[in-house]
Amino acid sequence: MAGTAGEWFDRHEEVGRYLCAKRRDLRALAAAQCERDSRLLGAVYHLKDGMWLWHRGSRFTPEESTREYLANAANEYDTLIEYGEDRAKAWAMTLGAVGERSFCSPERNNPIPEVVKLGGVERAVEFYRASSLAEISRLDRELRGVFSTCPKCRLTYLIEYRAMHYAAGKAAAERTRQVIVLPGRVVPDGRDPGLAAARAYGLISPWQATQWRLC
Ligand SMILES: [Zn+2]
Repeated sequence: MAGTAGEWFDRHEEVGRYLCAKRRDLRALAAAQCERDSRLLGAVYHLKDGMWLWHRGSRFTPEESTREYLANAANEYDTLIEYGEDRAKAWAMTLGAVGERSFCSPERNNPIPEVVKLGGVERAVEFYRASSLAEISRLDRELRGVFSTCPKCRLTYLIEYRAMHYAAGKAAAERTRQVIVLPGRVVPDGRDPGLAAARAYGLISPWQATQWRLC
């Protein structure tokens, strides 16, 4: 796990480019698919330094883009103050300039595929062998993962790391073909009565995720 932040970024960029170009020729251990139209949302590949999750990235609504933009400007402002910048000047450079800049950030409206390092395949196999599917897919647990938007139906899903670990571990342990995960859908908090017991995430536009399953 040694290495500098620079090496970390370089390796992510390298893997991102590699999987973008080559992933169709590679065998994924696990794949996340849209439950409506079976489009690929993300997949786990075993590379020389462990498992990597490639995913499509998520599409933000215009409201979400605006909120994210404002949140970033507020963060920039805080950082400038922290580093001793004059308040008026920091304001003018960040939140004060919001009205002059465009909210429209095109890359946010068109999802950009991303890669995330997941860890070793041996640990995924151990996790698969030690875990109960019913237990790890419970809705009242803390969720960690990435958003991925389906290119066809435009629904956004949460590809949970735990689900992909389990599925990749299963594929490696049983030496089967890739294991398909149907990830949970991301829905606004309170919209789905079935999720009353599930945690909500996010302060500005709270969301919940429906249960993931294996196909
Ligand atoms: Zn879809």
